[in-house]
Amino acid sequence: MNFDFGEKETVVREKIKGLFDGDSVADLASLAGEDVEEIRGATLKFLGLLGKEGFLTLGLDNEKNYVNLTSIQEGLAAVSPSLFIAAEVTARIFGRLVSVYGTTDQKDEIIPSLREGRLIGAVAMSEDAMNIEDDPLNTTGISSGDGFHVTGSKGHVVNGPIADWIAVAAKTDDGLAFFLVKKQSEGLAVGQRLAMLGYNGLAVSAVALENCPVPSHCVIGPFDGEKQLKTVRMWEDQILTASGLGLIKRSLDAALTFAKVHRSGNKPIIAYQEVGFKLAEMVTLSQTARLLAYRAAWMAEAGDTEAAVLAHCAKVFCTESAEQVASYALQILGGRGYVSGNPAEEGYRDAKYLQIAGTSSEISRMKIADGVLGI
Ligand SMILES: Cc1cc2nc3c(=O)[nH]c(=O)nc-3n(C[C@H](O)[C@H](O)[C@H](O)COP(=O)(O)OP(=O)(O)OC[C@H]3O[C@@H](n4cnc5c(N)ncnc54)[C@H](O)[C@@H]3O)c2cc1C
Repeated sequence: MNFDFGEKETVVREKIKGLFDGDSVADLASLAGEDVEEIRGATLKFLGLLGKEGFLTLGLDNEKNYVNLTSIQEGLAAVSPSLFIAAEVTARIFGRLVSVYGTTDQKDEIIPSLREGRLIGAVAMSEDAMNIEDDPLNTTGISSGDGFHVTGSKGHVVNGPIADWIAVAAKTDDGLAFFLVKKQSEGLAVGQRLAMLGYNGLAVSAVALENCPVPSHCVIGPFDGEKQLKTVRMWEDQILTASGLGLIKRSLDAALTFAKVHRSGNKPIIAYQEVGFKLAEMVTLSQTARLLAYRAAWMAEAGDTEAAVLAHCAKVFCTESAEQVASYALQILGGRGYVSGNPAEEGYRDAKYLQIAGTSSEISRMKIADGVLGI
């Protein structure tokens, strides 16, 4: 395994760190408050900064530099979890979908603004009361004149209320396609921003489409088979895995700092074995999670036959460790940890989303088992 980081990526990683030094180390939750327009404004402001530093361009052309990317992603996910997800869905899912599978005209229209952080993207795949692993999509794109009419509904869409473009997965007579729907399009209804357990700076909503007209030049596909959908799901899982690493780092840093400074019985609490053992366990989980995530990324880069199974192992381990490490951190912070607004308490709530979204922990384990059995 070669985990060397390239010069370009090292520079971007350092620049991203610099961006969030000092006063701006905060999640979108505290930067933007509750108002959707303010969240959109704060997201665009930070996308602009990230774009300037080259963050939004990475992986757009499907360059297989996943190890470097994971390391850079981990850094941003640790300082601003909600902004990280909003930026990743824009660049690494929506942007990569257009850049890898889109037409030249689609790329010309969307990618320049996206690279500069002037555009927010969303991708609506999974639907209410079904998961796309087991069930076919219910959303349809019916051919009509020079385009399609799209009808269906999606229960949860990250960036839904603030997106300029939503890529909607739907089935057509000729296979699966992604329909690029502009905000405020006829027939598109974006639901209210959902109140959620964690990721309080994210704007997530349901999205419904009723005979939404989409011209042919805004369609990616249709594709025969599910390869493209599976690839997009893999990108999603990679992001959620990196988010887990970020939460782990955030909780561990908070607990370590607190344990060194906070005194009880006239000594810093880190001097107590019970606290030290928790920190030891957290460090072990943190290092193991990173190793596994980097190994999965390296195998994906190398096109290894076990890459898909490793990606599921990494998602399960990193996202479940994120909850465990946050739980230890919260315990170490004591009463202060239980009060809202610290990285441990936030990480504890945030981690659940990572285990549910994308390929859920349950389905990931089934896929790992299938892989072991050679199914
Ligand atoms: C905050 C948030 C944001 C999201 N953003 C997006 C987005 O931007 N775009 C998008 O397309 N989707 C998005 N999703 C949807 C997300 O991908 C789905 O929630 C996820 O795939 C799980 O599907 P489900 O919620 O329908 O659960 P279900 O599939 O109904 O599953 C419910 C439970 O049963 C388990 N289960 C289901 N089937 C099986 C099985 N065969 N074997 C064993 N266990 C099973 C699941 O693991 C889960 O624990 C988001 C979800 C959340 C919570």
